[in-house]
Amino acid sequence: MTRRILVTSALPYANGPLHLGHIIETIQTDVWVRAQKMFGHDCRYLCADDAHGTPIMLKAQQEGITPEALIARISASHQADFAEFQIGFDVFHSTHSEENRRMSSDIFQRLEARGLITRKTIKQAYDPEKNMFLPDRFIKGECPKCGAADQYGDNCEQCGATYSPTDLKNPRSVLSGATPVERDSEHFFFDLPQMETQVKQWLSEDRVQPAIRAKLQEWFDSGLQPWDISRDAPYFGFEIPGAPGKFFYVWLDAPIGYIGAFLKLAETIDLDFDTYWGEQSETELIHFIGKDIAYFHTLFWPAMLMGAGLRTPTAVYAHGFLTLNGEKMSKSRGTFIQARTFLNHLDPQALRYYFAAKLSSGIDDIDLSLDDFRLRVNSDLVGKVVNIASRCAGFIHKQFDSQLASELADPSLQEYLVAASVSIRQRYERRETGQAMREIMALADFVNQYIDEKKPWVMAKSPETQSAVQGVCTDGLNAFRILLTYLSPVLPTMSAQAAHFLNLPALDWSELDTPLIGRTINAYEPLMTRVEQQATDALLAETKLEALALAEATKGDGAASSPQADAEPEAQPIDPIAPEITIDQFAAIDLRVARIAQAEHVEGAAKLLRLELDIGGGVMRQVFAGIKSAYKPEDLVGRHTVMVANLKPRQMKFGLSEGMVLAAGGGNGELFILSPDVGATPGMRIK
Ligand SMILES: [Zn+2]
Repeated sequence: MTRRILVTSALPYANGPLHLGHIIETIQTDVWVRAQKMFGHDCRYLCADDAHGTPIMLKAQQEGITPEALIARISASHQADFAEFQIGFDVFHSTHSEENRRMSSDIFQRLEARGLITRKTIKQAYDPEKNMFLPDRFIKGECPKCGAADQYGDNCEQCGATYSPTDLKNPRSVLSGATPVERDSEHFFFDLPQMETQVKQWLSEDRVQPAIRAKLQEWFDSGLQPWDISRDAPYFGFEIPGAPGKFFYVWLDAPIGYIGAFLKLAETIDLDFDTYWGEQSETELIHFIGKDIAYFHTLFWPAMLMGAGLRTPTAVYAHGFLTLNGEKMSKSRGTFIQARTFLNHLDPQALRYYFAAKLSSGIDDIDLSLDDFRLRVNSDLVGKVVNIASRCAGFIHKQFDSQLASELADPSLQEYLVAASVSIRQRYERRETGQAMREIMALADFVNQYIDEKKPWVMAKSPETQSAVQGVCTDGLNAFRILLTYLSPVLPTMSAQAAHFLNLPALDWSELDTPLIGRTINAYEPLMTRVEQQATDALLAETKLEALALAEATKGDGAASSPQADAEPEAQPIDPIAPEITIDQFAAIDLRVARIAQAEHVEGAAKLLRLELDIGGGVMRQVFAGIKSAYKPEDLVGRHTVMVANLKPRQMKFGLSEGMVLAAGGGNGELFILSPDVGATPGMRIK
């Protein structure tokens, strides 16, 4: 029976580039969707940018552009990155669209008509200089519990206390530095407690993973609260119908954006709204999300849909966070890898495979260990799978005029491989892609063993066995065809290339047990090359450089996954950009790669280190640098950095300083010296 399925990934927030946390989620979803399509189901994959909220409004202000211009630019970058990672959306839209405005208003009015919207005047922190209400994350001050300085308005990173911004001591607005004042404002609330019984009923029908269910139980136990769904102007979003100056909170219209994307898709293909979204819909609706946004997707979202008389999700599948080399990805530590940076150095299919091999149906965190990544991809894809094709193709081309044998030499090999299709299919269906990849690689081992035992390279040398080489290699290439069919959801491009090589329109699940015999194949082109350590090193080096640039703009850790987690926090003010200079003025600054040959404390100097810089050609420079608070001398020796080589020497109390080392400075006094990419040598001029 053909199933009709709608699938979504969480909507990435349109205030910055994609990172690998977004990519792991879309790869998980895309693999599942491609598998469903390959099994013959009617499956559509929807996504969009989440384009509203305070951070986007402020970022656009900082850049001096409209929010519309900002989200258009970000959308183009998101779509370009997703396309290179081969994410096969049926539609990618935006929550800032007419479809979504219409749908959000419609759902709000339905909820209001059923008595599910209440109004209440609340007190909220207000920035008297910026003339706007402040979200919790835009207020900082001293923790009311432990007194730690510089804590956000919602929780303390030192002692873990949670509180409301009005409890902070010496609070200030991170936007203007002004002391916030309290102001009254009338807000709209969605009356979640009214929906409790219905949501519990929905959850009892096996919609979420056990770990998420346990988390939900905690929320039920502590009691559901009405949900504040409005924000005051200025706000970038949709104005609430009949309430001038009041806007929908970004988290109200973000999930409705799934429907907005559906409506956009329905403009190009004929899709009946009620068949997909009506209360009685039999279409499956599957959401893939990061575990940190479960609250929104398993409480608010189904409750809103029920309240509005629409269908509820069939299932919500959460995944864990992505870690890098065992640690939380961190912007400040320079381990926050952007999608584009990865693409600059490595093959996106390698990452698709690696993530597929690590993913399961659970919510445990997933680690990207770059050493393991390299070994795994080289061993599995290059060493096992691609190897089968390259071992067999040469004989067929050179000795048999590119013609496959007219029958399989050993049909039992093919039977053995095809028999695994039932369990591989089930593993894809259950999102146990890690298990699926292990099973497929065990089959690849089996095929390589078969070729090792037959030894076509020995057979080819003797006239009696020479003709049998064609059959053995035909077996090998048929096995390769089956393995690549199994891997198609994970490696769509390689699957298409393999189809071209085998002279087929595509690799087709329904043709698994139809052997490919008696036909001509095309020239073999290498399908994947080894991942080299140089490439993963370069990826990390570039990521660290980006971190230096980002250190100014965003302090602290971003969520490793889960796009929408950064819906409210993040945007931080940056230093104003300095006045423009001409290219000639820039060229007058002689910037050089320098090697730190020596570094030592300076007696009597509180902030300075004395550095000896090697700038090539035997030239050494002495520089006094104010970086003592951030670096130990012994950690600097041997490092490459960037110096201003033609700065007029300055006589200081401690000696002559003959230049300047470049470092990025954060708002809290952090310092990061700049480093060139791997391979730069002392004396190279920066241009
Ligand atoms: Zn504290």
